Amino acid sequence: GKKAIVVGSGIAGLAASIRLANKGYQVQVFESNAYPGGKLSEISIQGYRFDMGPSLFTLPEQVDELFALSGKTARDHFHYKRLEVNCHYFWEDGTRLRTFADREAFANEVQINLGENPENIKKALDKSAYIYNYLAPLFMHRSLHKWSTWINKKALKAYLRLGKLGLFNTMNQANKNHFDNEKLVQLFNRYATYNGSNPYQTPATLNIIPHLEFNRGAYFPEKGMHAITQSLYTLATDLGVSFSFNKPVDKIVVEKQVTKGVVVQGRFQASDLVVNNMDMVNAYKTILKDQDQPTRFLQQPKSSSALIFYWGIRKEFPELDLHNILFSEDYAGEFDHIFHKKSISEDPTVYINITSVHKKDDAPENCMNWFTMINVPNNQGQNWELLKARARASIIHKINRTLHTDIEPLIAVEEILDPITIESKTSSANGALYGNSSNNRYAAFLRHANFSSSIKGLYFCGGSVHPGGGIPLCLLSARIMCDLIPKA
Ligand code: FAD
Repeated sequence: GKKAIVVGSGIAGLAASIRLANKGYQVQVFESNAYPGGKLSEISIQGYRFDMGPSLFTLPEQVDELFALSGKTARDHFHYKRLEVNCHYFWEDGTRLRTFADREAFANEVQINLGENPENIKKALDKSAYIYNYLAPLFMHRSLHKWSTWINKKALKAYLRLGKLGLFNTMNQANKNHFDNEKLVQLFNRYATYNGSNPYQTPATLNIIPHLEFNRGAYFPEKGMHAITQSLYTLATDLGVSFSFNKPVDKIVVEKQVTKGVVVQGRFQASDLVVNNMDMVNAYKTILKDQDQPTRFLQQPKSSSALIFYWGIRKEFPELDLHNILFSEDYAGEFDHIFHKKSISEDPTVYINITSVHKKDDAPENCMNWFTMINVPNNQGQNWELLKARARASIIHKINRTLHTDIEPLIAVEEILDPITIESKTSSANGALYGNSSNNRYAAFLRHANFSSSIKGLYFCGGSVHPGGGIPLCLLSARIMCDLIPKA
């Protein structure tokens, strides 16, 4: 049979390997790390387990689809539940708010806690659904780089509505029009961070994101986020995909504009096609350095990065849920730091993700596993040792002020992930979480395609190429890509 090689076992690489196996290819995955999953990995320290990267799971049917395609029932292999409470929000003035999956409950909470007209919530969520319904078929489900995507009725309908779809104002402007209460503007602006963008710059089109969390739902895999990696890795192995760990690919071999295979540790490995799941920018710098460089795509500004403190906390906080946000008092200032000053605000928005709320064995008894994260600029050579030390102090102050506690003595274990270690662990250019940012109105068109336009047999999937970063889009990138590949 025909052979396919996949470079990297990130979530998109895993999905691609499953889809290619189903197309009849003999699939070999080479991975630099000792483990699959890339950013979607886990660590355990002294009785505490942490998901290292993604914490929010939307569009779970993208995972189910991979099982169905392989003739299996997802429910037999991978369990998840829809969250009733999406997130707990905290402000320093004592305001607290929960966002509920149930629209009525959410609108009601907003009216009680913020005095906002509940109709405004419903209108905003309907608008988000409207954007999704027009744009998902164009941007999320197909290759943008094929004419057929643009010449059809759906595309025509979308062109006629570019204004309504929010292309010409910013997310912040649109949210200010939607809501009276500033805290709600802030809450909805935060969705820009779901793909590492700046709400004060990014087009209002990104108001598509709340649709995923509210209308389609936020989910939690029963065994934690890492179960997504684990179950897809097992599925791929069951389908006969072969994985080689600790095996970085040194080069993709191309002859006369046709892909021939890869070189791994000095040895040539032949294949009929190669799928690159490595970050596209770093791939062109290394394993594709002899090929034409798609400069236009390589120069795009990157999304933000993250600084995470994985803390084992020897106390339980009943007011905290799975997802918690302690909001900055100066949100615009925070983004100014991230995207313009390339630094970190002294009053950052702190995100605390606690899986032990749902999965008790993730922390010892009466303890919690805190994944404590702030958004930070991507790596531009800043002094990270200094920034990290300052940020740690700011985060601790923020938590103490907002939750009225003294958190430092409660920290039992600590591990840190920063832009430098994100890049060294997964090769993401500048340690960006989601590839390119979407701050530019044309960002969607400035992502690399899921195939090479000049080299036959070379394909791309993952957060740094079309349609973008985050688990659902990475899974979609593998689907769009495999739709372009003929059966073996
Ligand atoms: P990656 O995970 O980037 O993996 C690429 C793989 O390729 C790696 O395993 C790497 O080792 C391997 N590789 C690289 N070079 C080579 C080579 N030369 N040879 C062989 N192998 C190679 N998304 C969400 O949906 N929800 C969230 O809540 C969320 N939060 C996040 C929080 C953090 C801290 C981070 C880091 C990311 C978060 N994301 C979130 C984004 C999400 O993790 C990514 O978009 C997604 O996991 C990227 O998958 P990928 O397939 O592009 O590959």
